[in-house]
Parts: sequence; structure tokens; C-alpha cells
Amino acid sequence: MAAKFRNSRLSVAEYAEGILQGNRVVLSQAITLVESKLSSDNALAGEVIDKIIPNSGNSLRIGITGVPGVGKSTFIEVFGQYLVNRGKRIAVLTIDPSSQRSKGSILGDKTRMERLANDPNAYIRPTASGSTLGGVHSKTRETILLCEAAGYDVILVETVGVGQSETSVKDIVDFFLLLMLANAGDELQGIKRGIMEMADAITINKADGENMRASNIAKLEYKNALHLFPANPNGWMPEVLTCSATENTGIEEIWELILRFEKLTKENGSFDNNRKEQNLGWMEEAIKYHLETNFYEHEAIAAALDGIRSQVSQRELPALTGARKLLDLFNGR
Ligand code: GDP
Repeated sequence: MAAKFRNSRLSVAEYAEGILQGNRVVLSQAITLVESKLSSDNALAGEVIDKIIPNSGNSLRIGITGVPGVGKSTFIEVFGQYLVNRGKRIAVLTIDPSSQRSKGSILGDKTRMERLANDPNAYIRPTASGSTLGGVHSKTRETILLCEAAGYDVILVETVGVGQSETSVKDIVDFFLLLMLANAGDELQGIKRGIMEMADAITINKADGENMRASNIAKLEYKNALHLFPANPNGWMPEVLTCSATENTGIEEIWELILRFEKLTKENGSFDNNRKEQNLGWMEEAIKYHLETNFYEHEAIAAALDGIRSQVSQRELPALTGARKLLDLFNGR
């Protein structure tokens, strides 16, 4: 098999078989295929996804977000090991805007979560998000499905924030954990209210040493802040905890909280409803994406676009008239 892996692409059956056997090399190759922008790859990736989809969906998908420096990778390293010690197989998908780390994302990630990366029951996949600026890579959903089919039962999706126009991590996970710091002052206020509102739990990290007292105060403050948000339709009341990733404290409490969330939302049906809604959102996004791609790749549009853009920007043509002209061209009128 080894020689075959050097070829750039496998067959659908080879991808599917390798993934279902939990072969990490094939899993990584399949993720690369899914992330490819070539349309021939997209078609193949679609077939691979169709093939493995009956074996996906059985994980708990957890989003972990926080500003750079809050301790996400340190936290995931200890949280991941805690889960592995409890018999879980975990996949970590890190969405890493390369600008955040000096050595570029891939190199930077090699030194992150080193112990977890060497654990046979953990799989870490960095994704250089490029232009997504803290949002979620558009192919992260497919990547989650592939990891589930490969037998990972907890998927951690790490992001540095929530993108504006891109898919937010909330749209692709079951549980959304926001890491924060006490005493971060104005920087903390920079975490938008909207992100806090999305969180199923907030954890104040670095609750250790001299920071202990401040962390407990912050915990109360955030608790009060969360009470001001409207109640979640899923019946879950977001909670605030403290932890220290470096001292390995508070980790178990976080997992227990996530299990309580899972139990509640599975019992009241909202876990499943959320996944259904996410699937519909995914389909709508795919339609938008394809329509837009077809539009800009259309011959008549490609020929007319620059001219109309310049007329609109110079106010020779109203924007809506420009749009109508282009749409007429697209529709062959
Ligand atoms: P990320 O950018 O969010 O992934 O943050 P890192 O995990 O790289 O951590 C940033 C810095 O904070 C590193 O120097 C860590 O050692 C430190 N750090 C992370 N977690 C803790 C913690 O619980 N307590 C303390 N005191 N330092 C921490």
C-alpha cells in the first residue's frame, strides 16, 4: 500500500476503506482532497463523503474559541489527554490564521500540543485558514465527517474567534466553549457580546497562582452577564467555570458540564434538532456558493464584469442596474 499512497489521488473505495479502518495517512489525504479547490477533486471528494456518511455523525462536536494567548492549545493538550485517558478517541481541528503565529501555521502547530499529537488515540489536523480570519474553514464540516468515520468520538474545533461573513464555529458544533481571561481589561471587552451570547459555557483560564482571586471575581461577573441574555430555546443555561490548563485543574468539571449538556439536549430533542438545522444551513450555503461560482465563471459575465464594475464605481450606472444587467446576461436574456 505504501507506494500507492505516494500517488496524489486514491480511488473512492480506497479512501473510504482507509478512513473506515482508521488509517491516519488516508484520513489526512482525504482531508487534503476535501480542501482542494480543483473541481476534479471536488467531485471525487463528494463521492468519498457520500460513501462514508453512513459511518459519520456519532461524535460529540465541541467548538473551542478564544483570543490568541488565552491558552487554547495548552487547554486542548490537557483536555485532550484527559479524554484519551477516559477511553475517547479525539480529533482536533485547528483553524489557524497564519498571521497569528510567527512561524506560519503548519510549523507553529508542530510544536503545539506535542504530547497529544503523539498519542495514538488523538489526531490533530491544522488548517491554515488563509482568508477566513478566525472564521471556520468552509471545508471543516466535511473534515468532521471524515474524522467521525475514522472512529474519532470527540471532535474539538479550535478557532481564534468568530468570523463575520464566514461560517461560525457555532454552526458546525454541538457545544461551544469560550475561553476567557480574568483581568484582560479592554482586550477582553473586545470579545464581542455576540460571541458570549453563543457560548454554551465560558471558562476563565489561567485561574492559578496570583490570578486565582481575579478569576473567581471574573467568573461571577460573567455569570451575571450571561443571565442578561435571553434564555436558550434548547433549555440549557450557559455556565461559567474556571480552570488552569498549566496546573491541570478544572478540566474534569468542564467535561462533566459538557456531558450534562449532552444528556439534557439529547433528552429534549434539541441536540438532534440543532444538527438538522445545521444540515439545512449547510445545504443553503452550498447552493449560494455554487450559484455564485457559476455566476462569476460564466463566459458572458467574465466578459462584461470589468466594464460594468467600472461604470458602477464611477456612478455612470446605478448599482442595481449594473446587477440587473449582469443577471440578464447570466440568464441569457
Ligand atoms: P493560544 O494562543 O490561545 O493557543 O494560547 P497558548 O496555549 O499558546 O498559551 C499562551 C500562553 O499562556 C503560554 O505561554 C501558556 O504557557 C500560557 N498558559 C496557557 N494556559 C495557562 C494557564 O492555565 N495558566 C497560566 N498561568 N498560563 C497559561
